[in-house]
Amino acid sequence: MRMSRYFLPVLKEDPAEASIVSHRYMLRAGMIKQATAGIYSWLPLGFKVLRKIEDIVHEEQAKAGHLPMLMPTIQSTDLWKESGRYEAFGEEMLRFKDRHDREMLFTPTAEELITDIFRAHVTSYKDMPLTMYQIQWKFRDERRPRFGVMRGREFYMKDGYNFDLTKEDALHAYNRHLVSYLRTYERMGLQAIPMRADSGAIGGDDTHEFLVLAETGESEVFYDSAVTELTFGDRDIDFDDKAQCQAIMEEFTTKYARTDETHDEALFNEVPEARRKSARGIEVGQIFYFGTKYSDAMNAKVQGPDGKPVAVHMGSHGIGVSRLLGAIIEASHDDKGIIWPEGVTPYHVGIVNLKQGDEEADGACEALYKEFTTAGLEPLYDDRNERAGGKFATMDLIGLPWRITVGPRGLKNGVVELTSRKTGDSVEMTPAEAVARVKDIYAGL
Ligand code: ATP
Ligand code: MG
Repeated sequence: MRMSRYFLPVLKEDPAEASIVSHRYMLRAGMIKQATAGIYSWLPLGFKVLRKIEDIVHEEQAKAGHLPMLMPTIQSTDLWKESGRYEAFGEEMLRFKDRHDREMLFTPTAEELITDIFRAHVTSYKDMPLTMYQIQWKFRDERRPRFGVMRGREFYMKDGYNFDLTKEDALHAYNRHLVSYLRTYERMGLQAIPMRADSGAIGGDDTHEFLVLAETGESEVFYDSAVTELTFGDRDIDFDDKAQCQAIMEEFTTKYARTDETHDEALFNEVPEARRKSARGIEVGQIFYFGTKYSDAMNAKVQGPDGKPVAVHMGSHGIGVSRLLGAIIEASHDDKGIIWPEGVTPYHVGIVNLKQGDEEADGACEALYKEFTTAGLEPLYDDRNERAGGKFATMDLIGLPWRITVGPRGLKNGVVELTSRKTGDSVEMTPAEAVARVKDIYAGL
């Protein structure tokens, strides 16, 4: 992409309405624009990162064997009356009527709709286990929408649902989701810690939330600092292997880590004092096992191996896809702007031309641009006729992890400069070396 042809409405001043850094930088970097309270338009740069995050979620779900699908945002209220949640959801649910006076709602989650699909088509235990998911817009009429995309009213969420014959199988689905989520967040450069949580309006006994530690987080959390040392890394996973998934689940959840709703002071005090931490966290996902709550209420039964009807065991699993942009920025920024982790960066490398119009500099930039593009990488080339200082400020604000600076003076010696956004370190090298280095960095991602 060439900056001269891009739509990047960068703001010079801090917007008054943004109280936390991720919201501020998303507005300043021209990623989003508020349409009305808690509802945002996604401008090209923001949309690009949203897509990257969505792609990672899809890829990791595919590895876990979960089937992508898509359900509508608008639903009739009938199924919700059947499950009993029409009342339970309260004012967070946006309700309205169509022209025939039928009661409708904008989906805040989709347990009812998917259970209805399941009961219509699955009649035998032989068609299970089954896990389907979608990434779809949700609406919750939050009392206090704030912090930009972190607590919106309209937000983009991955929601998945598993249907299993037995509790044991459903707990495997739970563990499988936990493992798959750990991988998902790590690929985004995030440490998201599974913490025992409260199940809220979804219902059920077993549930973990995934929290990213950040001062601006809305949740209060208590944990054994040993949990922050766990990393998933590139372990080889067989998602059908119950024992392996269970072992990983235990590894990541047995040490004390809880949100305030489930916090247990006595248990917490058993953790050695030096490792006892309390902090703030951002909830970026949650997994639930709720047994037969919905299948009982909605009569979702299948024929078991002995021919008798059995209510299916279910769980649901969510990732806050749009909230993740905010969470990643909260976890990775400095006073100049965003620092995107390589896994989600909107463009792989920025090219800054220090002297637009200089034949040699222009030529070198064009050559770099072409080489990256041919290699399947996406460069963002600042080809505007602007001061170098302004170009650097924009690049720092939008946070691409790598920048190549090209100027006539360096080119006289045959070099350009490769700069890391994170460390600020710059190294001079030939353009060919810079291309090779950047290709190398992204080779494993
Ligand atoms: P919260 O406690 O933050 O209100 P929740 O527990 O009600 O969230 P879930 O039903 O677990 O939310 O939804 C799954 C994920 O969707 C959450 O983990 C969160 O990342 C995201 N999410 C929920 N509400 C919002 C919102 N209003 N804006 C943006 N993302 C949200
Ligand atoms: Mg939740």
